[in-house]
Amino acid sequence: MSGMGTQTIERPDIDTGETTDDDTPKFFHYVKKDKIVESAVMGNHVVALCGEVFPVTRSAKPGSPVCPKCKKIYEKLKKG
Ligand SMILES: [Zn+2]
Repeated sequence: MSGMGTQTIERPDIDTGETTDDDTPKFFHYVKKDKIVESAVMGNHVVALCGEVFPVTRSAKPGSPVCPKCKKIYEKLKKG
């Protein structure tokens, strides 16, 4: 009788570096001012120019990249 085989099974730590940061948009979306005010008062969601819907309290941090879609639409609105 022999063999004290010690076996160490290494459990790989699965590190999902992803933080599912609830519903905070990664982009800074353009939202019409009256919509922001309305949403702030009502406490509901705002609809960005691109159609993105998010709670007004969860808007992207200042300095976040501007949503390309919003930017495009905004440029159009300025022209029109
Ligand atoms: Zn957008």
